[in-house]
Amino acid sequence: MKLLGIDIGGTAIKVGLANEHGEISLFKEYASESKKGGEYMIQKVMRIITEMNTVDAIGISTAGQVNHQDGSILYANDNIPGYTGMPLKELLEDRFGVPVMVENDVNAAAMGEYYFGNTHRRDDFLFLTYGTGIGGALFLNGRLYHGNDGIAGEFGHLITHPSGALCNCGRYGCYEAYASTTALINKAKLVDKSYDNGRIIFEGYQQGDVSLQQLIVDWIYEVALGLTSLIHIFNPPSIIIGGGIMEQDVLVKQVSFQVKQMIMDSFSNVQIQKASLGNKAGVLGAIALHLAREVRRSML
Ligand SMILES: [Zn+2]
Repeated sequence: MKLLGIDIGGTAIKVGLANEHGEISLFKEYASESKKGGEYMIQKVMRIITEMNTVDAIGISTAGQVNHQDGSILYANDNIPGYTGMPLKELLEDRFGVPVMVENDVNAAAMGEYYFGNTHRRDDFLFLTYGTGIGGALFLNGRLYHGNDGIAGEFGHLITHPSGALCNCGRYGCYEAYASTTALINKAKLVDKSYDNGRIIFEGYQQGDVSLQQLIVDWIYEVALGLTSLIHIFNPPSIIIGGGIMEQDVLVKQVSFQVKQMIMDSFSNVQIQKASLGNKAGVLGAIALHLAREVRRSML
């Protein structure tokens, strides 16, 4: 059986092939040219699938909000013009005649961590990615929890500072306005304009730039603040945190330490872990959408 996983993002389209045991035989990356629009990008995705010859099922991880039932794009921002409303599943099933499943990229990455990562197939965990914003996914009772409209897990818009800073969503005081990588970069650029990405900021911090130290300590506090509320709501055994900046073990350790200071003692069994799949999470997650279906079918 050939399962094709495709991760559609604002900058890249990543593709992987696996068998029914989840053994990966190919991984490729293409520029998504998303500014040319959703229609152009989908034509490109179709050309890529055609290159793969025949496949038995296709899983898609994509940017934007997804209706996971009909596999259409509920909403995508201007990074991919004209993508909102795209009936992705229908288009691909009509063209290739195989089952297609579609998930948003954060949900797919959580699914990837479950099957391929170091969650040890733990049936309950929360997953958060820190980048331009903060994405979230709920993995409960061994499956993704979607909510009424398929968009549960918008942890980035937890309000951590009532009447605080303006968020991209148009509301005030959201978690991601304080704890995303972008929020950290915006503060670091006031110290030195060259601090314009997470990696450079972290290098500066390690090389002993004292002006960055308080910024990082404050940012870790903001990250922990949102996690504290989530832990008190869900009492999860594990929280997995990802996104480029969280590749740094020392940051994950400091976040975990800070969280333990802030939560009620009775919640202290929670483990904060680093995401383990890096930039392959979306592709592996897209493949895992079909692996999950196979597992559920075998349980019937
Ligand atoms: Zn917001």
